[in-house]
Amino acid sequence: MCMTCRSDRKRVWGPRTDIPELPEVWVGRWIRLLRCLECETLWVASPFEPYASFPYLVVWDRTIEEFASVHAVDDGALCHEWLQAEIRVRMKTAELADIDASRRHDTRSGGHYGFDHFEEENPVDLSAYLKPSP
Ligand SMILES: [Zn+2]
Repeated sequence: MCMTCRSDRKRVWGPRTDIPELPEVWVGRWIRLLRCLECETLWVASPFEPYASFPYLVVWDRTIEEFASVHAVDDGALCHEWLQAEIRVRMKTAELADIDASRRHDTRSGGHYGFDHFEEENPVDLSAYLKPSP
């Protein structure tokens, strides 16, 4: 059980005050990959408006290189689209504290992101840019 990022139980962190601070392993345009030193899980991180002050994390199950290849498609636009949809999928089963933080953010952003409009599946298909699963 990872005490740092709690990846064994969580796939998303909302913009909570206790969001873990993890070291950066890759940087794109307003989007980064972080790696937990304790369990080595990769997390996609991005700060959302207003003032880029609402950070979210979601698990990235694949390699840094694969994320970089998706980012290279259109300077990160597809990564951001995937991330926002992934947050809506993961929030569906998130801890109450993450959902609450996301709702506070939603109020603050005037409902711009709607991360509590949960989705069953991520509609953004990255498969063309990823290696086939083993
Ligand atoms: Zn961890």
